[in-house]
Amino acid sequence: MKTKNSSLMQKKRDNCPICKRNLYLDNKISKRVGILNEYDEVEEWMCPYCDSHFTLNNRLTVLYGTMNVEGEA
Ligand SMILES: [Zn+2]
Repeated sequence: MKTKNSSLMQKKRDNCPICKRNLYLDNKISKRVGILNEYDEVEEWMCPYCDSHFTLNNRLTVLYGTMNVEGEA
């Protein structure tokens, strides 16, 4: 399985799908907060504004840091 962390960092417009805030900071740094798994790999990211969590494919997993949309442990 290939990881593509670089795709997180290279977009010029990077709006949060939920709160629509622009998470783009510069061409190296995103305001997205990476969430690491037990192997120190970036597994999900979190919006620092609304606390929603997403997979690296921008699929919503936690809405506003409270509700678990997937319902999986
Ligand atoms: Zn957001």
